Amino acid sequence: MATLETQYKNYMYDNPSSIYTFDEWRVKVLGESLKQAIKKLEDEGQLKNTTFSSKPKHYYSVEHLYHFTCCECKQWWSIGDYSPKKDKVLTCPACGFKSEVDVI
Ligand SMILES: [Zn+2]
Repeated sequence: MATLETQYKNYMYDNPSSIYTFDEWRVKVLGESLKQAIKKLEDEGQLKNTTFSSKPKHYYSVEHLYHFTCCECKQWWSIGDYSPKKDKVLTCPACGFKSEVDVI
C-alpha cells in the first residue's frame, strides 16, 4: 500500500483537472471511498465481531437527585440535576408551604 502522499499524487496524475489540495482529497476522495468500503464490508457481514463494527451498547448517564422534606407536612419530593443554593425558597408540591432550604 502506497503512502497517502503517493496515493494523492497518483490521484492527481489520473485526474489532472482536479483542483483538490491534499487535505481536500483526503476528506472528499479518500474519506468517501473508505466509508463506502466499510459500508460494503458491513453490508456483507464481514465486519461483525471486529473493532470496526458498531456493536449495540447500553449507555448511562449520571443524575444527581436531590430529596427535599417539607418542614410543614413532612412529605418529601425529589428534583433531579437541580442544585439548590442554601436559603433558596422552594414551594412544597404537596401542601404549597414555602420555605427556605438547607442541607441536612
Ligand atoms: Zn408540605
